[in-house]
Amino acid sequence: MARSSVLVIREVPQPFLPYGRQLIEDDDVAAVVRVLRSDFLTTGPETEAFEAELAAACGAAYAVVVANGTAALHCAYAAAGVTAGSEVVTTPLTFSSTANTVLALGGRPVFADIDAQSLCLDPEKAAAALTPRTRVLAPVDYAGHPAALDRFMELAERSNVLVVEDASHAIGATLGGRRIGSIAHLTTFSFHPVKTITTGEGGAVLTNDPVLATRARDFRNHGLVRDVGRLPPDPPPWYYEIQSLGLNYRLTDLQCALGRSQLAKLERFVARRREIVARYRAALADLPTIELPEEAASVRAAWHLCAVRLRALDRRAFCAGLRKLGVGTQVHYIPVNAFPLYRGLGYDPAATPLATSAAERLVSLPLHPTMTDADVDRVIDAVRAVSRELA
Ligand SMILES: *Cc1c(COP(=O)(O)O)cnc(C)c1O
Repeated sequence: MARSSVLVIREVPQPFLPYGRQLIEDDDVAAVVRVLRSDFLTTGPETEAFEAELAAACGAAYAVVVANGTAALHCAYAAAGVTAGSEVVTTPLTFSSTANTVLALGGRPVFADIDAQSLCLDPEKAAAALTPRTRVLAPVDYAGHPAALDRFMELAERSNVLVVEDASHAIGATLGGRRIGSIAHLTTFSFHPVKTITTGEGGAVLTNDPVLATRARDFRNHGLVRDVGRLPPDPPPWYYEIQSLGLNYRLTDLQCALGRSQLAKLERFVARRREIVARYRAALADLPTIELPEEAASVRAAWHLCAVRLRALDRRAFCAGLRKLGVGTQVHYIPVNAFPLYRGLGYDPAATPLATSAAERLVSLPLHPTMTDADVDRVIDAVRAVSRELA
């Protein structure tokens, strides 16, 4: 149907800006197509290369790539020895997988409260939650800002537990100049499309410990062992053993090719995310109704989210107002201990009051490297307009 172009332009509403989305370029597409025409669709040379490049990019000795970030947590906890009755001390201000994968192993998540500034697990509160059954401390790098990892590593050493860092938000971040992925006993990433780099679905476990790497690798692939060195002497060529419980959490070569292509852009993506947050901060600093994220002195955050806290603004009205102006938002997170599953297990969000009260005021503004400066300015104008209207 022919339409008058002038009228159409005027009638078209501003394109909707989601809070997060992927950036896929021609070379990403070409990388996947190349593998589609190759001999290996899964667990071939792309998997091996992606693991080597990921480990190198993050300063870790080993990377084990898996089907998604939830699988990464499941593998990491299994590698750390979480079994029936083990306790894992973590934050309620996270995506449910951080705790669900503990339940999946028969373990018990123990929620300790957050630090009100960084919104990450508070090391003091975590220390107070330790018991003889604690196996793992599981801080989350909320919004891409590293948790207090040095404190958690110290605490872990004193208490003979391991640190599994859920760094789903934080690939590309640094703490005291060290890269995320090189610090905790085990670090996990997610490569979901809203995360900093994507493989569609995907994730990884990073570690410097060869024993933990082998355990995570075994858990990814049915606990299946083919290594002659790990089998009884003189095995026939077809022989393998299932030596421990594992699942199929493999990442395909198609996805690993995409991962390699995206990983090469990590610095650019993180730099752009940081620029956008800086632009938000500069333009919204004077608004009394919005509290902006802040970076600790020793940190280079990888800002996966621009999570702001509202002051005396109705959140539902705020988000609805932005949506009317074509600006998408999301809430990260509803505290895990507030969900029906967890309440049914006896958890109570009142036990973590700082997380509960912060969660009531949080709103994530659009943040992704496909945004232009004009997009960012549109969000800024919308936030100012809606704040004025509601104040
Ligand atoms: C995205 C995310 C996960 C889960 O990752 P998936 O790849 O979606 O399974 C776990 N924890 C946190 C903090 C996340 O943001």
